[in-house]
Amino acid sequence: MNNTMLLQRLHKLQETFTEKETELTALDREIGDGDHGVNMKRGFNAVKEKVTESSTQEILKQTGMALMGSIGGASGPLYGFSFVKMSEAAKDEIDVENLRELLEIFAETVSSKGKVSGGEKTMYDVISRAKEVLGEDGALKLEDLQKLADDTKDMIATKGRAAYFKEKSKGTVDPGAQSAVYLLSAFTLEEE
Ligand code: ADP
Ligand code: MG
Ligand code: MG
Repeated sequence: MNNTMLLQRLHKLQETFTEKETELTALDREIGDGDHGVNMKRGFNAVKEKVTESSTQEILKQTGMALMGSIGGASGPLYGFSFVKMSEAAKDEIDVENLRELLEIFAETVSSKGKVSGGEKTMYDVISRAKEVLGEDGALKLEDLQKLADDTKDMIATKGRAAYFKEKSKGTVDPGAQSAVYLLSAFTLEEE
């Protein structure tokens, strides 16, 4: 994936998050404050507006800055800072090996910034396991990522706002895990 394709994919997430706003809001209404849909839409509106054609490194960095600057909630700094960290390791042409490295950095950044580990019902559960579903050819399929998000349904949240719901957080897919599905699917090396 070169810079042009990366930019196209990130710009396209603006449409995706506009379409998925209601779904993400509904999930966050169950176990949060109901703003995750609007947060992600606002974040990728800023990406569409501010990130322009440049190197893969610069595109990822600018995306991170746009997300940090526009998303008010917990997800803003987690996603935003992760993109900035990934930008430092991105190659001009992102191949499977580089993608594996970027996913590793994404997971490490969320883990250290969010002080989170697996099974706490957050975006980390999808991001950290994305490498398990990454194909030899670099495919990151929506349906495979969705299974990882679905696994958060039976978990009890111990981080973020959802943690206040304790046992009652069970039965709902984590909103951040769901947004991570859409975000990560944009990194697939498969042509559309
Ligand atoms: P807020 O909770 O501030 O309203 P959002 O609704 O945008 O922010 O994002 C909520 C999502 O952020 C959660 O569903 C969860 O996936 C993620 N999240 C919250 N806190 C953490 C954390 N400490 N570590 C990892 N992810 C987190
Ligand atoms: Mg929220
Ligand atoms: Mg909020």
